[in-house]
Amino acid sequence: MEQKKSEAIILRTKDFGESDRIVTFFSSLYGVLRGVAKGALRSSKRFVNSLAIFSLVDLEFTERRSSDLVWLDSCELVDGFPGIQTDYNLLLKASYMVEMTEILFPLNVPSPEMFKLLRFALGSISNGRNTEETMLIFQALAMKIGGFGINVSKCSLCGRPYKGKGRALFHPPSGSIVCLACEKESVLTPGMEPNTVHVLEQVQSPGLSLSNTLRFNEDIIRELKGVLMAHIEHRLGRKLKSAKYLQPANR
Ligand SMILES: [Zn+2]
Repeated sequence: MEQKKSEAIILRTKDFGESDRIVTFFSSLYGVLRGVAKGALRSSKRFVNSLAIFSLVDLEFTERRSSDLVWLDSCELVDGFPGIQTDYNLLLKASYMVEMTEILFPLNVPSPEMFKLLRFALGSISNGRNTEETMLIFQALAMKIGGFGINVSKCSLCGRPYKGKGRALFHPPSGSIVCLACEKESVLTPGMEPNTVHVLEQVQSPGLSLSNTLRFNEDIIRELKGVLMAHIEHRLGRKLKSAKYLQPANR
């Protein structure tokens, strides 16, 4: 069968038998795939230093007729994101991103846009650039790319347009903001200042350039965290296993 090539990020690996390794990877062109790296546990030139989780690699693989597992033919390291590999907290954050990616994009569902986001976010936290902002951008944008963008244009209950004045509430069941005349602020319907709503709109806008990292103040970070956590839990139907690591230690 035809050999395929793609840039990819290694999501998980598992040793298999005496010398092989099963690798789950997110490829920019074909989505999440699983493959067998034959002989990866022996010294093998084809896979040298390139199968560490969260690494960005150039992969060559061949599909198999009778199996979901592809054959990995070669794998070349592009960026190992060394900042993540040596920092336990960043490893947990990277695990969270990978878990969310796999929930939103099951096997064989390609999304070059999601790939670009994951590559940006891993690179950004590895370089120690604005980790909190990066996590929030990742969460909001991953949900949007997965089809669950938050509507910030109007109250979903009464239809009143939001003109950027006064607090707005986030309403998980509708995935939208609602106004204070329709709902009360609570843990279930967390509130946002106009600045926070504006940032959420900016982050979800199609023109967002991932290379210009945004800086948010502490209030915006705190409010966005609450809103995105409520949104993700509601839409994805369960707590992500790694979500607890995103909360401050004293909670
Ligand atoms: Zn309303």
